[in-house]
Amino acid sequence: MGYELAAAFAHAGHQVLLISGPTALDVPQGVDFLPVETAAEMHEAVANYIGKMEIAVFSAAVADYTPAVVSPEKIKKSGNSLTLELIKTPDILGSARSAFAFQGILVGFAAETENLENNARSKLSRKGCDLIIANDVSKPGIGFDSDHNEVLLVYPEHTESLPLATKHDLAHQLVQAILQLHFLQRL
Ligand code: C5P
Repeated sequence: MGYELAAAFAHAGHQVLLISGPTALDVPQGVDFLPVETAAEMHEAVANYIGKMEIAVFSAAVADYTPAVVSPEKIKKSGNSLTLELIKTPDILGSARSAFAFQGILVGFAAETENLENNARSKLSRKGCDLIIANDVSKPGIGFDSDHNEVLLVYPEHTESLPLATKHDLAHQLVQAILQLHFLQRL
């Protein structure tokens, strides 16, 4: 979804910086690309560049936890169970308004399996977003690993639903919705 959004913003004539973890996707034409490998690297990249942006869209499915210790070698098989200690990754979207003092249009995603609208709405206010694009990842055929999606647009004062569409077509609708917020902010 992030790659389709980057392509759609570029297609609409905007300058785009795509900060992305590893994927098998081609970088869209006309987009500046900054590859990262870890949540910590993505956090640092966003910290460095978000101040230059008017709109920031957070669509990466960042892991919430990361191994406390990364073994330089293959971990050898030993007993019947293995316990890995996981520590929380930085909440990049949650840092945008606070630590990064971002004042532009802030858009997050919410992948939920229950209470889609309520959970998205609480994320919206907790993270100071202008819009949360929410999708129900328990529904087969949409969201992760699919070319299709079906989303709820959760704004501070109202909610809209966008019906099932290809991520490509949806990206163009989302860009229009986000540019509308940007336009209203500048009035
Ligand atoms: O709280 P939750 O992980 O469901 O929020 C999802 C949103 O937060 C997405 O926009 C995702 O890109 C962003 N996120 C983040 N940093 C994390 C985890 C998620 O920016 N460590």
